[in-house]
Amino acid sequence: MEKKEQLYEGKAKKVFATDDPNLVIVDYKDDATAFNGLKKGSIAGKGVINNVMSNHMFQLLEKQGVPTHFVEQLSERETLVKKVSIVPLEVIIRNISAGSFAKRFGVEEGIVFDEPTIEFSYKNDDLGDPLMNAYHAVALKAATREEIETIKSMAFKVNEVMKQYFDSLNVILVDFKLEFGKTADGKIVLADEISPDTCRLWDKTTKEKLDKDRFRRDLGGVEEAYQEIMKRVMGK
Ligand code: AMP
Repeated sequence: MEKKEQLYEGKAKKVFATDDPNLVIVDYKDDATAFNGLKKGSIAGKGVINNVMSNHMFQLLEKQGVPTHFVEQLSERETLVKKVSIVPLEVIIRNISAGSFAKRFGVEEGIVFDEPTIEFSYKNDDLGDPLMNAYHAVALKAATREEIETIKSMAFKVNEVMKQYFDSLNVILVDFKLEFGKTADGKIVLADEISPDTCRLWDKTTKEKLDKDRFRRDLGGVEEAYQEIMKRVMGK
C-alpha cells in the first residue's frame, strides 16, 4: 500500500492518503502534549508502543464483536486503517475516580465506582474540549441520537473487554478516552487509539501509575512506564 500525501497532522499522529480512497495510513509520533497543548515534550519510543498496543487492543476488541477502524499494521509506527469521519465527541469511561472527575467533584482519586460512568466532551481544541451531554451533541449535530446510543453501548462493551484484559496483566483500568468514526457507508466504528496516552493504568499491586499521568504530573519514569505496559501487553 503506497503512502501518498499527508492529509492531517495531529498532536500524536500523522495521517496519509493511500491509493485506496477508503483507506488511510496513520503514523504515530513520539511527541507528547498535555493540558490541551500547553505542556509539550517527547516520550522516546512512545509512537512505536502506542501503535503496537492500539493494534493489539483493536484486534482483541474485534474478536469480541466491537467493530474498529483497524486493517493492518504496516511497520513499527504505521498502520493501515479504514478512512472515517471522526465523530467530534471524546467519550470517557471511568471505573475509578481520577483526573478531571476528582477535581470537578472535589473527591480523592482511587474511589472505586459501583458502575462505570460515561461522559462526552466536544472535540474542539480552541474551546478546550468542553464537557457536553447527549442533548448538546444532538443540538450541535455532532451525532444523531441513534449514533449516540450505538456509541454508548460500544463504549461500555469496550470497557468490559479491556477491564478484564488489563486485570489479567495485573493492571487496573482506571479510565480511558475513546473516539469513534463513521465509515463511507455510515457505520460507526471505534477509531483513534487505545494506549497509555488515552488510558489511566495502575499497577494492581503497587498502584503505581503506568500511563501519561507520569508525563502530565512530572512523576519521572515516563519511558519506563510505557515500556512496562508494552511488556505486559505483548508478553515480552
Ligand atoms: P480526565 O478527564 O483528564 O480525567 O481524563 C480521563 C481519561 O481520558 C484519562 O485516561 C485520559 O488519559 C483520557 N483523556 C482525556 N482527554 C484526553 C485527550 N484529549 N487525549 C487523550 N486522552 C484523553
